[in-house]
Amino acid sequence: MPFLDIKSVDYAYSSGDDEYIQALQSVSLSIERGEFVALVGCNGSGKSTLARLCNGLILPDRGFITVDGMSTSDKKSLYEIRKRIGVVFQNPDNQMVTSIVEDDVAFGPENLGLAPAEIRERVDWALNCVGMSEYAKSGPLRLSGGQKQRVAIAGVLALKPQMMILDEATGMLDPDGRAEVMNVVEKLNREENMAVLMITHFMEEAARADRIIILDRGHIVADGGRELFSTPEIFTDAGLDLPISVRLAQKLRARGLDLGAPLDIDSFVSSALSALDVDRGEAVSDGEKNHNGGGEV
Ligand code: ADP
Ligand code: MG
Repeated sequence: MPFLDIKSVDYAYSSGDDEYIQALQSVSLSIERGEFVALVGCNGSGKSTLARLCNGLILPDRGFITVDGMSTSDKKSLYEIRKRIGVVFQNPDNQMVTSIVEDDVAFGPENLGLAPAEIRERVDWALNCVGMSEYAKSGPLRLSGGQKQRVAIAGVLALKPQMMILDEATGMLDPDGRAEVMNVVEKLNREENMAVLMITHFMEEAARADRIIILDRGHIVADGGRELFSTPEIFTDAGLDLPISVRLAQKLRARGLDLGAPLDIDSFVSSALSALDVDRGEAVSDGEKNHNGGGEV
């Protein structure tokens, strides 16, 4: 049984008398333990609605959602479901509830009614996981955006969830902050086998996931591995950007140099260098003819 199972879910918000906004329609997907999945889509495509449905903050109008076999529609299961799926939201400033980092991280476990020694252990472990141990006694004012988001992640981690949903959690951060959060999340996925659903509009982040799901106006239009980037229209039709490396490769392909769909700058550079080596060799004998650099993937 998948860890998270979403079957044929519809969800509409009411927007006044008899007016509805259909946020999600016939959405089905499942996520296994330990998977790293990116969820992408334009503003208003239904990403946050999907996140809220996963931990039972809202309930589907049609279809069902189960977490570890428990339905989010079953009120008695909500407590267990929220222990299993932790959600980190966009704005780190709205997430710190107390004034000291370690107290903030302890907030969740305290609410679980755990023994003080267990709470202490979890707080230390969670802060260590996100590389924030040395800030345990700090107040939030001294922290950068990336550090605050790492504290928010530690607060969720202290509940020992099996899955973490990050709803544009890097959206308000600078590039360094984004990289910090991304590194922490990848480490948790790798070392703690934590399933991750990374909702993001940064395609470079999405390209680092094992699997990418695209939402377009409430519908899932693609669900697959990184090979989706070899069909760029899937992204552009949904109003999305492509990673810069894929866009550069597209432009070069139009000029006859096929580099495939390199997902980050380093792979772009390696593919470009090996393709150009081939070209240079041929260019000597071919004169300056602009030929199709076929010697590539
Ligand atoms: P995303 O996170 O992809 O930007 P959302 O899930 O927030 O998308 O929104 C999906 C659709 O539902 C949008 O049309 C949005 O305007 C609408 N919506 C979201 N939240 C509410 C709400 N609380 N009340 C009414 N409409 C909402
Ligand atoms: Mg959103």
